[in-house]
Amino acid sequence: MQHRPFGSHDFQVSALGFGAMRLPLRSDDQADIDRPQAIRMIRHAIDAGVDYLDTAWPYHGGASEGLCGEALRDGYGERVRVATKLPTWLIGDSNPLVAPFLDEQLQRLGRDHIDVYLLHALQRPFWEITERYELIGQLEDARQAGKIGHIAFSFHGDLPLFREIVDAYEGWAMAQIQYNWANTTVQAGRAGLEYAAAKGLAVVVMEPLLGGELVSPPPSVLAALARITPADQRPVGKALHWLWDQPGVSTVLSGMSTMAQLEENLDHARASRAGCYGDADQDHFQAAAEALVAAYPVRCTKCRYCLPCPQGVNIPRNFELYNDKVAFEGRQDQHNNVMYRLMAEHEKASACVQCGECEARCPQSIEIATIMPQVAESFGG
Ligand code: SF4
Ligand code: SF4
Repeated sequence: MQHRPFGSHDFQVSALGFGAMRLPLRSDDQADIDRPQAIRMIRHAIDAGVDYLDTAWPYHGGASEGLCGEALRDGYGERVRVATKLPTWLIGDSNPLVAPFLDEQLQRLGRDHIDVYLLHALQRPFWEITERYELIGQLEDARQAGKIGHIAFSFHGDLPLFREIVDAYEGWAMAQIQYNWANTTVQAGRAGLEYAAAKGLAVVVMEPLLGGELVSPPPSVLAALARITPADQRPVGKALHWLWDQPGVSTVLSGMSTMAQLEENLDHARASRAGCYGDADQDHFQAAAEALVAAYPVRCTKCRYCLPCPQGVNIPRNFELYNDKVAFEGRQDQHNNVMYRLMAEHEKASACVQCGECEARCPQSIEIATIMPQVAESFGG
């Protein structure tokens, strides 16, 4: 497994990190983690040289941290750096302290120390919470007490806010950003990556495959990707190598849901190196990015942060079906119409009452309440 510098710190991490946000689900209950398989996958990744595991308080409805704790028993925890995140949005007047969250997370993970502790999903409102409740000072106290190693943040705001946050605190060890060939100017983007790396921060990449959208993109996108060398490499490989091509990237977190996905990503990570794409290839990536924007009407990454909807609408599933219906130009119409009909009535876009409650939680700033009626209309109301 290739290793890469963790910013200006005196250690390296594996090129591929294990993201525990999209763990395998039970075939008989899609709301529940397939625990034996998830544990097998995490341990297999560690055996193959992955030494960075990323989880968070809300992943899998709060079950991800506990699952990771289970997987890290039997000595696996000593072979990996563990990162988890403070649910910044749950801090408020009635809950001003970090310690109760951190202590529960340590217990879920079965550890007395978290290597990298992040303020989760910073956007303007959560950054205001960070300042109002002096969260960084609380994290420094936790570090003094030996409960956490490095202080970091994950980010879903815009570039000016990213720079403001990077500049606000000299002790940041790392910034975790959404970054892939289709998102070079979205959120922190390439400029944010370079800004943080120049200041010695490690940059950890999330959403390298844009919630799966870059795995099997529409034909117009595939045509642009096919011009990139090697021409026969699948889109997953192209997306991952595009990231490892850039020296500022420390590790790439992939949310793997099957053993086959893990094996494929491990193979790519073993072959990773900086400087693998030339200028002509970069032009083809840019053309693919433009084709993707034109093809998909909704930029949903299926992160599920918008859930639960009080009406029970399955927001990401509706957007997934709608995107495919539009992007694949009618070829998947019948399939997607059937899939939509198979959803429970309360899960369908037609159940949305446009309350807008979900929108503040969407890191992609999608106008969910406005788009849902269009989705319902496209599937016949
Ligand atoms: S706007 Fe629609 S989808 Fe969003 S929370 Fe309200 S009812 Fe649910
Ligand atoms: S609508 Fe937004 S919050 Fe919901 S799954 Fe999609 S990207 Fe995530």
